[in-house]
Amino acid sequence: MPQRKRKKEKDKKDKAKRPKKGRKKRFKLDVEAVSKEIGEEIVRRLGLDLIEITANDILDIIENIVSEIAENRVTKPSNKSIIKRILASKDNFRKAVAVRLFELKQENLTLEQLEFIVSYAPELAGKATPVLYKIAKKYNAEYVISSLQTLWNKYGKRTPLRCPRCGFYSVTPDLTCMVCGAILDEEEIRKSINLIEKLREFSRHAPTPLLREIYQAGFVILNDEIHPPSTAPRKGFRVELHLKPNERVIIINELKARDEL
Ligand SMILES: [Zn+2]
Repeated sequence: MPQRKRKKEKDKKDKAKRPKKGRKKRFKLDVEAVSKEIGEEIVRRLGLDLIEITANDILDIIENIVSEIAENRVTKPSNKSIIKRILASKDNFRKAVAVRLFELKQENLTLEQLEFIVSYAPELAGKATPVLYKIAKKYNAEYVISSLQTLWNKYGKRTPLRCPRCGFYSVTPDLTCMVCGAILDEEEIRKSINLIEKLREFSRHAPTPLLREIYQAGFVILNDEIHPPSTAPRKGFRVELHLKPNERVIIINELKARDEL
């Protein structure tokens, strides 16, 4: 025991003397050199050449993994075993590549690169939907757009209001679309949510005081549904829709039918 203690103390001393060197390596591995050696093979075996990724583009990603593998090994790993390890978790590797691809190309992605990002980095794709949507549109890739709609709802900034132009739930309360950039007017929103039908449905079932409230206020609040002002959520998404005469008349007729007006 005392011996061990002395050794510990000595290690401490060594560390103090060479603080930057970190923990003692059991073997030496030139991470950069190994990464360069295996880069081409990784690219080829994962089919990354098909999406125009070069070994150089992802050298630092390979380096990170190589040094991680080396850290956890007692004996020096061969290039072959490193490649095997990378291929064993290829989806994680592809995810890192997809993130890199987006950083490198942004709006200049090819269709194949876009598909790659949507498949392997779904979270990023959901967040970057406004950029990726424009690219998908350029290539007329409806199937990519439909994947993006799902990813936007899951990882993006979904709002309760669907854009009548691009179909994403991405209309903000000031009626601009975060995905396609459309600036919408109230008329387009009225049509797309079918306000007349919604008012008819509402007036059939709503208690009289709520109908009277809409009649007096002259507007409804829209979030995921239409509400009289008093029952609408105070916070979050709210759009005020002022009723036109042909919309107001629906409420008036219902009140009259109930002998309330
Ligand atoms: Zn839109």
